Amino acid sequence: MSVLVTGGAGYIGSHMVQALVEAGESVVVIDNLSTGFSQFLPQGVPLFIGDAGDENLVEGVIAAHGVESVIHFAGSVVVPESMRDPLAYYRNNTMTTRSLLNATVKAGVGRFIFSSTAAVYGNPDQVPVSESAPTRPLSPYGSSKLMAEIMLHDTASAHGMNYVALRYFNVAGADPQARMGLATVGATHLLKIAVEAATGQRAKIDVFGTDYPTPDGSCIRDFIHVTDLAQAHRAALSYLRGGGASITLNCGYGRGYSVLETIEAVRKVSGRNFAVQYGPRRPGDIMTMIADTSRMRSTLDWTPQYDDLETIARHALAWEEKLFRERHGELQQAVSA
Ligand code: UDP
Repeated sequence: MSVLVTGGAGYIGSHMVQALVEAGESVVVIDNLSTGFSQFLPQGVPLFIGDAGDENLVEGVIAAHGVESVIHFAGSVVVPESMRDPLAYYRNNTMTTRSLLNATVKAGVGRFIFSSTAAVYGNPDQVPVSESAPTRPLSPYGSSKLMAEIMLHDTASAHGMNYVALRYFNVAGADPQARMGLATVGATHLLKIAVEAATGQRAKIDVFGTDYPTPDGSCIRDFIHVTDLAQAHRAALSYLRGGGASITLNCGYGRGYSVLETIEAVRKVSGRNFAVQYGPRRPGDIMTMIADTSRMRSTLDWTPQYDDLETIARHALAWEEKLFRERHGELQQAVSA
């Protein structure tokens, strides 16, 4: 019996595969490698290069590997890109999930874990935001994930499937042993930009907005370490295997750090005083996003190990330094070849 991880070669998916393998699980991956890297997969994990929405592929993999649970990460995740090309997001996130669910139901797989996002809430009326808060996404990205959540709910009700939908807050950091991390070129996430500045790959970091009604004027986010997030998925899998009912859970630590505090943490752990430029607000940004984690903590057997901003920053920095060395080395080789 195996666990199928779609998007298993991506940022969060690869941490998931690592965690499952370390727990002795049998894992199989489907990834089209559009943003993933096959070298992030531990040796011996079967990788099928293809689309998670390719029903023939999915059915074949489920049958060949005796898949009993599906963890679905594959999708597109860049909010501004979703504004420019919404239909790509409805295809990659909503339609792909529909096809994957269809194949999963046909094959009789009864457990499904879905990567959702705090973006489904839009601008919350109050923080910490709970799962019962209204869902009013502000981007096609958030809408595409919310539509998939609704499909998952309806499909599970009709076909005797149980699911956990995990709404991620700000996922950050990297594998503590720096075996994998965020490797997307042109990433827009705050911590990634900050560690790129700390490693000299950027001249500066821009702070988008210093006039918010927050203690230091910058936005506030709830960062969760990617390894803790992967462990939350393992806990969700145990919950479903134990007969747990379908549920939607916030995934954060329930604590907020400002943009300025986050940059300061990277400065501190790196010991490098890179330039910070204070600029106007970024359109569409939510001021404060913090998870109410009470439902998650009472449902899952999960204790975070890295609930500390400096630890998250340190792991992100160590990974970035390794990535930089590797990419720089490749460049040197290409130049001398
Ligand atoms: N941010 C920033 N400078 C950057 C990148 C992000 O000031 O170079 C801010 C952004 O405006 C937001 C917060 O950092 O307030 C988190 O942004 P990110 O894109 O990492 O995640 P989001 O919460 O938007 O999904």
